[in-house]
Amino acid sequence: MVQTPATVPTLYRASWVLPVTTPPIRDGGVLVEDGVIRAVGPAAVLESAAALEPAAVLESAARVVRLDDCVLLPGLVNTHAHPELTVFRGLLEDRAFPQWIAALLALKRAAALDEDDYRLSSTWGCIEAARAGVTTVGATEDSDAALHALLALGLRGIVYREVFAPDPAAAADAAASVATKLATMRELESELVRVAISPHAPYSVCDELYRAVTELAAEHGLPVACHAAESAAETELVRDGSGPFATSLRARGIDVRPRGRSTIALLDRLGVLALRPLLVHCVQVDGADIERIRETGAAVAHCPLANARLGHGVAPLPRLLAAGVRVGLGSDSVASNNRVDMLEEARFSSLAQRAISGEPDVLPAAQLLELVTLGGARSLGLEGKVGSLEPGKDADLCAVSLAGAHTRPVHDPVAALFHSARASDVVLTVVKGRTVFEAGRVLNVREEELGRKVDELAKRIASALGG
Ligand SMILES: [Zn+2]
Repeated sequence: MVQTPATVPTLYRASWVLPVTTPPIRDGGVLVEDGVIRAVGPAAVLESAAALEPAAVLESAARVVRLDDCVLLPGLVNTHAHPELTVFRGLLEDRAFPQWIAALLALKRAAALDEDDYRLSSTWGCIEAARAGVTTVGATEDSDAALHALLALGLRGIVYREVFAPDPAAAADAAASVATKLATMRELESELVRVAISPHAPYSVCDELYRAVTELAAEHGLPVACHAAESAAETELVRDGSGPFATSLRARGIDVRPRGRSTIALLDRLGVLALRPLLVHCVQVDGADIERIRETGAAVAHCPLANARLGHGVAPLPRLLAAGVRVGLGSDSVASNNRVDMLEEARFSSLAQRAISGEPDVLPAAQLLELVTLGGARSLGLEGKVGSLEPGKDADLCAVSLAGAHTRPVHDPVAALFHSARASDVVLTVVKGRTVFEAGRVLNVREEELGRKVDELAKRIASALGG
């Protein structure tokens, strides 16, 4: 496979082009030059001399990428993932959330993975993302692994470095330590990958640490993401100082007091919402919380499959969208999902709402298209660069084949994309004009060799667990 230099103008022709901000185009095209979208429209028009200066740039067939029976759309945005946990896929099944968290910590201790292991795990997670048409990842991690993985793959992303300290006595040290780690990570920031911060969750972060992180983020202009309002157990802890999280914190000698409010109200009081953070989950939110999220301009990473799998419930997605909140979709980790398939994530987000509301027209396919592209970009603050196919935006693209037995016949390409197709139908992933996945192969990394290493690591983990 020859990587086309980003400087060579390329016309991507597809049976359907979905620009998101304008209607679908049958037999459409996207003209890309220097990694930037130059024109979007009917392919025949783009190929005509009138639209090209100089027209000769398209005389070489090598510069035309034909995507027959495919939809071409903006690269998918996964606003919330934990790529470093990819090797733990399948090891944390069928547990209630507080037990899931405890089991994850025990698993991490037992597996004793080193820096290289986490980088391998994260890289494998990013390979899965590239294969699924994901071009932008909001990666929330307790290491720098995703930063290295995104750079290696050539994907776009924001890496939110996690920080934890449920004990106020440990807050200052935790804040100082993460500040040092962030400074090192920021040396590797690129045009595509940004470093950010994540105070993990209300059951792992005390108020003192939230305040310290807020100051740090404001001082350095760091984007912020935090798990918020995810589970009933979290609400119990925050509001009443009781429940399974309170019990386990007290068992560790940590003083737990009722904070007397919802998680969203707590983050508001501590100054976190003023930073317009990405709030991950927001299942446990009421009308007042939604209004405050809207007023402050915070965003939401909606993770419907992880929420369902862990028994959290169904987040009020239609109400968040109706309020005008920025919302994107997230897979969460594959230890709680267990796959990265943003088409399925979108489909399920609609089906779950229909199941509980009895309304069959909630979240139609056109809305899902926006949610998983421009919605995700908005929630990460990247809508000026990506999320739709418009001249001037970066050329982050994915193409999905609708030629499979499970997708044909195609009457409505958008409905087919979200209700028939799946991640394995993705045939092309392009980030800023550079091909990341094509013809069944992920470029830029040695996928087969990495796959063998992942299998070896999985065996090592299994034997560490006594399997
Ligand atoms: Zn998460």
